[in-house]
Amino acid sequence: MKLVILGAGEAFHDSKTNISILASGATNMLVDCGYNVPQKLWKIHPDKDFLDAVFISHFHADHVSGLPMLIMRMRQDKRTKALTLIGPEGFEKSFRELYDLIYKGFFEINGFPIKFIEVKEGDTLAIGDLSLKFTEADHLKGTPQFVPTMAIRISNPEGSVCYSSDTTYTERIPQLAMSCDVLIHDAYMPADSEYHKRMPAHSSPRDAGRAAAHSGAKRLVLFNTHRSFDGKEDLLLSEVKQEFDGEVIIPNEGQSFEI
Ligand SMILES: [Zn+2]
Repeated sequence: MKLVILGAGEAFHDSKTNISILASGATNMLVDCGYNVPQKLWKIHPDKDFLDAVFISHFHADHVSGLPMLIMRMRQDKRTKALTLIGPEGFEKSFRELYDLIYKGFFEINGFPIKFIEVKEGDTLAIGDLSLKFTEADHLKGTPQFVPTMAIRISNPEGSVCYSSDTTYTERIPQLAMSCDVLIHDAYMPADSEYHKRMPAHSSPRDAGRAAAHSGAKRLVLFNTHRSFDGKEDLLLSEVKQEFDGEVIIPNEGQSFEI
């Protein structure tokens, strides 16, 4: 399986692409599709039939708002092959509403079948040669801003990758990621940041390191680091190292891994 990090940026970064991961091989799946992701994908895979499935971890704009654009271009390019869309509970209703708000009436005339699958804690799925497993992330739990958010593990016979999505630290993530090749984990701001006290939304680099250590992952990839920490990568890495002594990567856009 080839893994491409299309983007790893936080929602409001002035130049970085929203977090998005492409798992490709016999089956091609996109994981999250924020507002600036489609152009990154079209640049390397313009083929209308390239994607078999898209997983949306939760209904925040930097994770879902590019997906209608992907589908509109597939329609223009006259795709006929079916597409599977996977998301948390309530995803289909929310996505149809979003689509209808920005391209009224177009979802019904896309010209190709779209199958929705909604997943919950502990669910497993097979999409082509990919085995998928899901667990709940803890993103804004207990607040009026809560949205259901799912983490995913993607495996094929060659290996596995786990993506935490946006989450505070939860032991469910290392359990999902147990002995995986690559763990991609939220690392928004250092552990002592005021932000974490105000908003139970994201993890620190130390949390990411702890999740990697508890899972036994071979590599840890950080994403979602706040723009105010650009150029302070050493600070982030030193915090991770308090918990995890394996390989840690702050990815460049388009960086790929063979698993
Ligand atoms: Zn979010």
